[in-house]
Amino acid sequence: MSSCCSTQQTLDASCADTGQESLGVAPGVVSTSSDADAALCASCGQKGREVDVLTVKSMLTPSALATLDISQRFRFCSHPACKVVYFGHTGQQFLIEDMSIPVFQKDTRPSVPVCYCFGWTRARIREELSSTGTSTAAASISAHIKAGRCACEVNNPQGACCLGNVASSVKEARQQLTHVSVNSAQTAPRGVFEAQEVH
Ligand SMILES: [Zn+2]
Repeated sequence: MSSCCSTQQTLDASCADTGQESLGVAPGVVSTSSDADAALCASCGQKGREVDVLTVKSMLTPSALATLDISQRFRFCSHPACKVVYFGHTGQQFLIEDMSIPVFQKDTRPSVPVCYCFGWTRARIREELSSTGTSTAAASISAHIKAGRCACEVNNPQGACCLGNVASSVKEARQQLTHVSVNSAQTAPRGVFEAQEVH
């Protein structure tokens, strides 16, 4: 089983979840055009990141798990508007409704976890930023990772480290709070957003 968080050396590379990673073909397996096709979500066309079947097993509802074909190599579709969460290389798909927990990339509610291992939701990140002006989420999670406590493979639907999502969520929360405070002070924020709303 691959572990994204097992060493500090691999942390930076594995946690930069840009969706631009290689096709992830296992060592010794010759990549073919069908492999490339199998890497694309049949629903949205976006390339999926390969996940361990243990991740898929960990996320499925009991009824979905009962249909799992373990001969398939599964990938995670991170497209926010796509209903598919996992797709196998020969066609099996699992959708949002087949998951036992909400999927960060496909569910924008504040209660949805950003870090599934250590309980950072969008709301918790925003609350801390709002009350203290800073976010300790990334540093706290990194310390846990260094101590070997993370279990992304079985806790996080993407099957990999959450730090990229944490960084984007902190940035998003900071922008929202800035916008709110600017509006509450009734100061026009450079006119850009306001101008679009004027009719
Ligand atoms: Zn998709």
